[in-house]
Amino acid sequence: MAALHGQQNTLTIPCSVEQEMSRHMHLSLPQEACGVVLGESAAGGIRISRFQPIRNVAPDPLHHFTLDQTEWIRCIFSGSTIVGIFHTHPHTTPTPSHEDLQALPDFGGMVQVYLIGSPNPDTQSSCSNPNESPSRMLMNAYQIATSNHQQPSNAASKFPSVHLIPMELRVT
Ligand SMILES: [Zn+2]
Repeated sequence: MAALHGQQNTLTIPCSVEQEMSRHMHLSLPQEACGVVLGESAAGGIRISRFQPIRNVAPDPLHHFTLDQTEWIRCIFSGSTIVGIFHTHPHTTPTPSHEDLQALPDFGGMVQVYLIGSPNPDTQSSCSNPNESPSRMLMNAYQIATSNHQQPSNAASKFPSVHLIPMELRVT
């Protein structure tokens, strides 16, 4: 985990939620798993309260993810606050792929957090709660940062300036 200094960029996830995400990842193998995380802004960052799995409807789910539109829309209208998107890299590291970065503008306006998980080859867990078993998942958290300097009518707005900033992930 990258040790970031400063208080404004921390993502807090309860162990139980992190384990739900890990479970969903392992149950979906060898395909990529995806879903959304619900939560709220908290002092110093964002606090996740719940994970909602969403069906991956990508034509090639072994290497891509596409959120099922119906489930996504149902989530939006459920009254919960969607703060982030989660998906997994079953065969690689939990860092954004080229395709992930290209698809970012689709989510940039709607969510603040981008989470990627990968199977953890060793049993060490980021979870510090001794009552929970190791999650067997490596996870990276990123903040989705958008720039608003481009006008919607601008032809370049098809490629708005969206990028990812690593967040400190705290599993409690
Ligand atoms: Zn990806």
